Amino acid sequence: MRLVKRCSCLMDYLMPAKRCGLYQSFEKQMFGNNKNCTFKIQYRAAPADLSLLNKQNIKMTNKTFLSLAVILLTVNCLQAQVSKQVHQMAYADSFRMVELYKDLHQNPELGFMELRTSGIVATELKALGYEVITGIGKTGVVGILKNGNGPVLMYRADMDCNSVKEITGLPYASTKTMKKDDGTEVPVMHACGHDAHITWLLQVAKMMVKLKSEWKGTLLMLAQPAEEPMTGAKAMVNDKMYEKGVPVPDYLFGLHTTPIATGSIKNGYGERAAGSDQLDVTFYGIGGHGSTPELTKDPVVMASNAVMQYQTIISRSIAAQDAAVLTVGAIHGGGDNNVIPTSVVVKLNLRWFTEKTRNILLDGIKQINEGIAVANGLSKEMYPTILMKGNVYPQVNDTAVANRVNKALATVIAPEKIISNTLPIMGSEDFNHLVLGNGKTVCDYVWVGTAHPDLYAKALSEGKRAPFYNHNGNYQVDLAAIPLGAEIAVTALLELFKK
Ligand SMILES: [Zn+2]
Ligand SMILES: [Zn+2]
Repeated sequence: MRLVKRCSCLMDYLMPAKRCGLYQSFEKQMFGNNKNCTFKIQYRAAPADLSLLNKQNIKMTNKTFLSLAVILLTVNCLQAQVSKQVHQMAYADSFRMVELYKDLHQNPELGFMELRTSGIVATELKALGYEVITGIGKTGVVGILKNGNGPVLMYRADMDCNSVKEITGLPYASTKTMKKDDGTEVPVMHACGHDAHITWLLQVAKMMVKLKSEWKGTLLMLAQPAEEPMTGAKAMVNDKMYEKGVPVPDYLFGLHTTPIATGSIKNGYGERAAGSDQLDVTFYGIGGHGSTPELTKDPVVMASNAVMQYQTIISRSIAAQDAAVLTVGAIHGGGDNNVIPTSVVVKLNLRWFTEKTRNILLDGIKQINEGIAVANGLSKEMYPTILMKGNVYPQVNDTAVANRVNKALATVIAPEKIISNTLPIMGSEDFNHLVLGNGKTVCDYVWVGTAHPDLYAKALSEGKRAPFYNHNGNYQVDLAAIPLGAEIAVTALLELFKK
């Protein structure tokens, strides 16, 4: 038998009733709200346990059954105690963590410029007793905690923000601007929730120290720069992270915010995020006066043709069953109304899941470019050039690991809110590039619901998918997801340390 307590208060989406007191106090202090919370206790059989016994067809005496029942109850009881302890730790520190979250939110930093953020991470990890290596891939930080023989587990959080103007109107909204590499001043905001990721990392780091008696192995807490341009993970590896004392992990685990309701997670199996390429195509021509195009070779017309023809790669060269996206995000060329320029740059972004699809896209772009050059009578040395600026491979969750994590998380999240059957997203992540191709590490990347449930429900009732989306100025993280995310992460880590 398994004891299942369910809270029937408005915050039921968050946690079983054993947690009501804690959550109520958190809610009261956070939101000044004193909601009545009544809860009922239900008992139900644990079907998994009994079916296991049936399957094995064990002929049991009453005595054997009793012994097994005692063992099962003891194991369940010990696990329940640990999960209660994890929960209490997550909420006991939640006020400080929410303050830290707000501070990070008000002080966002662009990729490879995360000096303040990485400084906070390094200071906190050192104070907790981690061996800390800083400045990996410019601003990356790794904290190492050795705790006997066992698996090596890497927990990753990204630190960078977006060049987006915040319009949430929150009292702790970002009003900051930053200078980009090209010298332009831009508004900046954590519009992808990486501030929550760092807050979770620091709270998880603290809880795992306190819980040292519950796990054995080596824990690596990694704060990564520049996820948004998808170059930070590679930068850390290329900066010889694994030769500077960071052991190659058996598991790579991380959380990302997503605008589904707080209290829900997405942890699917296999491919979860698309591979991606960023490339610039430059069209060359012969410039001249706008009134005499016959004396020129116009790269504006060439680039315009290319933008339209590129889309036919998706519609005509890739099988309908294979997902792919080609987006032209920018065209730069010329400066005056009456001058035909000498070159135009077209900036492309590709998304794909297989190397075959990727090659069709890249070959197609090259063929279209050259076809346009031929049609315009250009000599070979004036053919368009391609600059490959960045690439990431699809992010893949190990099915067995994701399954283990989902089962363990059923003590934290209502099982029906653990979503594992969604299609992969066409967005991309450089998470797996921390361990790409090493033949050892298996990965699990979990998307954690961080939209306030009321806002989420309202959005659904209006026919929208979510109340806001990542990278938009109105993106926001429900503060209730701060302690919950730490509880999710620690529960998953303790599970993975078991073997
Ligand atoms: Zn993002
Ligand atoms: Zn992100």
